[in-house]
Amino acid sequence: MSVITPPTDLLRQQDPQMADVLAGEAQRQAGTLQLSAAENFTSPAVLAALGSALANKYAEGYPGRRYHGGCEYADLAERAAIERACALFGVEHANVQPHSGSAAVLAAYAALLRPGDTVLAMGLAYGGHLTHGSPANFSGRWFNFVGYGVDAETGLVDYHQVQNLARTHRPKAIVCGSISSPRHPEYAAFREIADEVGAFLIADAAHPIGLVAGGAAPSPVPYADIVCATTHKVLRGPRGGMILCGSEFAERIDRAVFPFTQGGAQMHTIAAKAVAFGEAAAPAFTTYAHRVVANARVLAQELEGCGFTVTTGGTDTHLIVADPAGLGIDGPTARARLAAAGIVLDTCALPYGDQRGIRLGTAAVTTQGMREPEMARIAELFTAALTGNATRTRTAVTELTGGFPPYQE
Ligand SMILES: *Cc1c(COP(=O)(O)O)cnc(C)c1O
Repeated sequence: MSVITPPTDLLRQQDPQMADVLAGEAQRQAGTLQLSAAENFTSPAVLAALGSALANKYAEGYPGRRYHGGCEYADLAERAAIERACALFGVEHANVQPHSGSAAVLAAYAALLRPGDTVLAMGLAYGGHLTHGSPANFSGRWFNFVGYGVDAETGLVDYHQVQNLARTHRPKAIVCGSISSPRHPEYAAFREIADEVGAFLIADAAHPIGLVAGGAAPSPVPYADIVCATTHKVLRGPRGGMILCGSEFAERIDRAVFPFTQGGAQMHTIAAKAVAFGEAAAPAFTTYAHRVVANARVLAQELEGCGFTVTTGGTDTHLIVADPAGLGIDGPTARARLAAAGIVLDTCALPYGDQRGIRLGTAAVTTQGMREPEMARIAELFTAALTGNATRTRTAVTELTGGFPPYQE
């Protein structure tokens, strides 16, 4: 038992309405299956840093060079986060201030590009992120994006196509990484193509960076000029972004984050990022990252056994893209029926056709301690949710999640 009153109790006394909202969300997360590929459960230590006194602190600038007074502890937090990130990813420079993955990508473009420059990135229809040239996003408005795709048959990036597009359009930068690729980018191939046409290589490793931290995925660091990432996906830290680069880009990146695209950094989040990097450096996280991939491989196989078509025929990551057409439904219908049974995941573009599929990941359920037998059980629950009785399946989901509370491994 804690000797201090938990903040949630204080909140309940002052604002019961919002306390109910937060309690409801905690219950939803614990009582339904979290299979969104972009989500995870942070540790209580990360949550403690997020709810700390640093939430009150303004600290524009960088450690030792602040525009605000009283930054001695803010500086300690940010220096620790930077040092831990550099050690974890074997990189010379880390900027831990980006408020999100998108903010990290914006800053990377700001550091390397001018408006109107040409950028080669994965097309949105194939898994490119909004920041990879969507007309609804700054990227598509301010830069001239050219999109590469994936092979309709294999679901894999076609490096000849990337090379041909690079030769034709002479981009200033090439972006590798996507929101839905179950396979790793071939960073060396991207590097070679970028070098041939004199382009910068930006790796948007928002999804796999946690696997990289745990040694369960190849690192883009030796190949990319700039690595953009989130800290809240497989990496299991607070919601936020970061940028990794060599010292030759350090100053440009830092100025691109602050003051070019952001104001004061979120110091409580930076402290929480430091906590998460500390956790990710421990041997237990290496075990975790490998289990995430092992679980995803089993789940992909089980889903194929249930009638789904899994793009690329499986996965090397935490992420699976599955087409439920063989079951006579599309992705949005599958998501809705699964949600009714308490199984939460996202829809996603498929490498072929116009219909959407589903995207799911094993980061959160693995944090909960689920292993291969539970992956088989989850696949059974998919079948039950899509073909059987939703209420009965909902009860079975509650039973499964009841045995694996979040916030423990
Ligand atoms: C998640 C993601 C982002 C954006 O992260 P946000 O924190 O939501 O802004 C950017 N790029 C890729 C490839 C992503 O998967």
